[in-house]
Amino acid sequence: MKEEPHCTGRLALETLLVHGATPFDPVTGAVTTPIYQSSTFRHPGLYESTGYDYSRSINPTRTELERTLALIEGGRSGLAFASGMGAISSIIKLFKPGDHLIVSADLYGGTYRLFHEYYEHYGFSFSWVDSSDLNLVEANLRPETKAIFIETPSNPMMKITDIRRCGELIHNHGGYLIVDNTFLSPYFQNPLKLGADLVVHSGTKYLAGHNDTLSGFIVHDNDIFEEPLRNAQKSEGAALAPLDAWLVLRGIKTLALRMERHQSNALRIARWLQEHPQVEQVFYPGFTEHPQYQLSCSQARGHGGMISFYLKNRDDVAVILRKVSLILFAESLGGVESLLTYPLVQTHGAIPEAMRLSAGVTDRLMRLSVGIEAPEDIIADLDAAFSYSTI
Ligand SMILES: *Cc1c(COP(=O)(O)O)cnc(C)c1O
Repeated sequence: MKEEPHCTGRLALETLLVHGATPFDPVTGAVTTPIYQSSTFRHPGLYESTGYDYSRSINPTRTELERTLALIEGGRSGLAFASGMGAISSIIKLFKPGDHLIVSADLYGGTYRLFHEYYEHYGFSFSWVDSSDLNLVEANLRPETKAIFIETPSNPMMKITDIRRCGELIHNHGGYLIVDNTFLSPYFQNPLKLGADLVVHSGTKYLAGHNDTLSGFIVHDNDIFEEPLRNAQKSEGAALAPLDAWLVLRGIKTLALRMERHQSNALRIARWLQEHPQVEQVFYPGFTEHPQYQLSCSQARGHGGMISFYLKNRDDVAVILRKVSLILFAESLGGVESLLTYPLVQTHGAIPEAMRLSAGVTDRLMRLSVGIEAPEDIIADLDAAFSYSTI
């Protein structure tokens, strides 16, 4: 009997992460997915095909990653792109000029830039709304509203949006719910199971996990999205390359271990920051006193590894960014190395000042992507950097 190298959905998530959709190569028995570094594929004859033709459309390494993503996010299909922005741009191809989308106001600055600087000029319209307040979301529904696009936890203020209720709102209106699930990863949160129609990821972050490649994903659970999204992926050419697909496949194998460690480190460091005299306020959804802690528990299995905090003194920002040494002052998140970001000029630099300030992104806000180092080393590094302060 021919061996079928296929996992079933009955396996626990931790196991699926390690083994992926196809746990070994059926031809050679290779335990990891081969990197099919080929742009094109030979056909045996006219109207005959191996299923592969040209790597912009389909590539076996990417296909294995796409199937794995669908499996771990609980969807029917996954599509891999060269970056998170490539995935988000492709999702907009499901809509048409004249359509309106409600978008979380407190979100990744690159998404704001893409929607505002590009798609608005092509006739789409967007309302930027604090989606953690469902009354505001509802008040912004228009006859032409076709989707709600949310990040939860939000970036960088860690507000939680009720995925189930957003789904109900937009479904009653005849539209779709899109969730950017980058911050929690499929290990902690599966929006499709809560009523979302489409999930996007910057795979650059926790999924790849090692700050070594860019990638982006769309996962969905509805056949009506499949053809238009595949067509966008093939036509626009932002599909993920085979070597990068392989790096993400390797990263995913340890996602469970990494997320647990990111989270336990984050909780400890968030508590330490909260006690620090130079820190005014810490935002972490894993705090039981976070205003939406119960909501977070009701829709996610964890609270992740991202923390943001206000310093009391704005002048400390430059000092701390210069003086951290183990922690790297760099944009991005979700990798094994701890990264400190200043959202005002980095991730949220593209957002206009008034909108940024109303979301809470002030000149005293810092964001920490807590890595998997020993927590006492991260704390010692912060402690040393804080000690150079101006007061
Ligand atoms: C980084 C990020 C993106 C963009 O992803 P890239 O891989 O950098 O293109 C989108 N959404 C969130 C929440 C992100 O953190």
